[in-house]
Amino acid sequence: MTFPPAAVPPRDCPLCPRLVAFREVQRADHPEWFNAPVPSFGDEGAELLIVGLAPGLKGANRTGRPFTGDHAGSLLYGTLRKFGFADGVYDARPDDGLVLRRARITNAVRCAPPQNKPQPVEIATCRRFLDVEMASAHRLRAILALGAVAHATVIAALGLRRGLFPFAHGRLHALPQGGLLADSYHCSRYNTNTGRLTVAMFEAMFAAPEKIAMTRAGPGHASWSRRRRARLRCQSRCFSA
Ligand code: SF4
Repeated sequence: MTFPPAAVPPRDCPLCPRLVAFREVQRADHPEWFNAPVPSFGDEGAELLIVGLAPGLKGANRTGRPFTGDHAGSLLYGTLRKFGFADGVYDARPDDGLVLRRARITNAVRCAPPQNKPQPVEIATCRRFLDVEMASAHRLRAILALGAVAHATVIAALGLRRGLFPFAHGRLHALPQGGLLADSYHCSRYNTNTGRLTVAMFEAMFAAPEKIAMTRAGPGHASWSRRRRARLRCQSRCFSA
């Protein structure tokens, strides 16, 4: 399966002037870095989609692969390997040979923002790419949102009301389209250093999506793209961290 071109921003995407200016500064200062919208990575037939915030300046923006080259990637890819969503060795570089199985990783905002803080207009502008990717992901069963911004972006992409699906770490939302949205704190260095997110808490987030992906796969499961406009009240619960 190949995603439509509209799911992939061009290397010189001009839509966010502030991020374009920041990108140009990085290209001048670090011409050896990737310095462009970072494409999604992983299995195009994924059952689990992981959505982060934005490329880290010295991580994904440098290497060109989501969550690759910084602390967050070490925790994320290590956890994916532990739960069978990745094969190979994660070596913090895009040519390390790591392969994702049934999983895919993307970001709400594809370009690195200053101080890692995208502005609301930039989040809204970049959502067009996530919209297309999610509508094209016909085997999707579960989404793991890393942080409140990723959560809100996914809810918007699904055409749902944010007030019915509040973000909370550990919360599991049953979606009207079928499938589930799981919320986690972002696996950033700040969150892990402060103890807001522990390794055990993060691994617990993956146990549920994995079960979901395994148990709900199969014929007869409606694709999210066909039902993405449905608006029903959320049935959500929390699972233990
Ligand atoms: S953040 Fe997204 S919409 Fe904005 S310039 Fe980058 S790729 Fe384009």
